[in-house]
Amino acid sequence: MPVGGGEAALIRRHFHALTAQRDGVELGVGDDAALLDVAADGRLAACCDTLVAGVHFPADIPPEALGHRVLAVNLSDLAAVGARPAWALLSVTLPEPDRAWLERFSAGFKTLADRYGVALVGGDTTHGPTAVSVTALGWVSDAMGLRRSGARPGDGIWVTGTLGDAARGLELWQGRDGDTVSGDPAYLVGRLFRPEPRLAAGQALLDTATSAIDISDGLAADLARVLEESGVGATLSLPALPRSPAFLAEGGTLRHALYGGDDYELCLTLPPSVEAEEMARLGERLMTPLTRVGTVEATPGLRGEDADGAVSALEPEGYDHFAGGA
Ligand SMILES: [Mg+2]
Repeated sequence: MPVGGGEAALIRRHFHALTAQRDGVELGVGDDAALLDVAADGRLAACCDTLVAGVHFPADIPPEALGHRVLAVNLSDLAAVGARPAWALLSVTLPEPDRAWLERFSAGFKTLADRYGVALVGGDTTHGPTAVSVTALGWVSDAMGLRRSGARPGDGIWVTGTLGDAARGLELWQGRDGDTVSGDPAYLVGRLFRPEPRLAAGQALLDTATSAIDISDGLAADLARVLEESGVGATLSLPALPRSPAFLAEGGTLRHALYGGDDYELCLTLPPSVEAEEMARLGERLMTPLTRVGTVEATPGLRGEDADGAVSALEPEGYDHFAGGA
């Protein structure tokens, strides 16, 4: 972004403070590439996610929220493989350098980065339609890491947190003619704008879970990916899908909970030997509810069982970024 004082000054002003003190950063933001001392006894986990204005977030999102969100969605991917986050690279594209916007954006990014000890170690700034992209790096030590491909018939399907909040929050934000800054609507909009990566849950279940994925496109769509990768099927108990009080109070439906994206909860499969009590205790310790929502089966396909015990096939249609040419 070679305008208004130059890219180097802009990076110094807004992003140097994000290179948190962290062991192993031998060369961070400001040089051509970062030099990181990587633990020799683990596996490096790497992921990248780009958010484009009007596609992945409303153009009127507060910049602080976008700073949080772009890091959170990447940390969520690290959570899904059971990794501990360590470093991030950030690319920011803006129509023009906007000091006030960057100030707020970097503040939101920093708050989340500090909470998880993530050091920003490099990136890029450029001109263009607003978009932000993060590459996150972390590691899994002394374990294989979680993956999508290990679900087995008989495993329980579990999710962290509650489902559908972000999808209902997006509707409330977009259609707002009333209050979205307090009460239940604010809670749901907050779930959309400031998702909480379930890093502790991913790490806690690293040795137990047979598969994991983070729910970015909706439970049905993301679970379908696990089933396909694992060569199995599943039946979900529809009444069991965890829904927040705010979601229920603000008109959230089963469709939001099943197909709504952006919650960034984890969906994990656990062997049948794992007991509900054990998971309840873990949920209390993590301060994140863990709910069993179904069972993996040998028969391919995704099914839903309603409160009357009727089972029907579920379309795995979630939010697909490339559906309909969008
Ligand atoms: Mg993911």
